Amino acid sequence: MTATHVTLLDKGPQKVIATEKVVSPLPPGVDGEPIYFRQIVKLLLEDGSEVYGCVHCEYVSDSIGSVRPHLGKHSPKGVGRAARNRAAAVRAYQDLDELTLGEILDYAQKGLDVAQSDATIRTRLIEERDEWKARAKAAESQLAKVRNAFKGLAGE
Ligand SMILES: [Zn+2]
Repeated sequence: MTATHVTLLDKGPQKVIATEKVVSPLPPGVDGEPIYFRQIVKLLLEDGSEVYGCVHCEYVSDSIGSVRPHLGKHSPKGVGRAARNRAAAVRAYQDLDELTLGEILDYAQKGLDVAQSDATIRTRLIEERDEWKARAKAAESQLAKVRNAFKGLAGE
């Protein structure tokens, strides 16, 4: 069932007062009728804002781009894909020590994309990404010191 109440981060709980079909970016059909998303609806909230919701469950997002990957959860094929994405994220996480900092940040961002709908994983990944960023900055500053020391030795 599509959400009937939505809690916005900045505005708190909002009642859904109407749902609307959403026109997809596909060109109109042969009959000239617009093509609508079949599994995504627009939810109008009582404060006048709009979010996009899944027709199968209470998942909502302020962007269609986030609802689309979520829909995979409701198709048998998508369940497999989500599981594979998660497995890949876990593998990447386990290999962290062998990755460059750039790759780690890249994986962290990909993980965030994968975990868009999973608040627990998302929060953990954000914390980890921020920790790695801090470590990357510290490492960079150490490197700069080492470089300067070498420059000094080389008599530059
Ligand atoms: Zn859903």
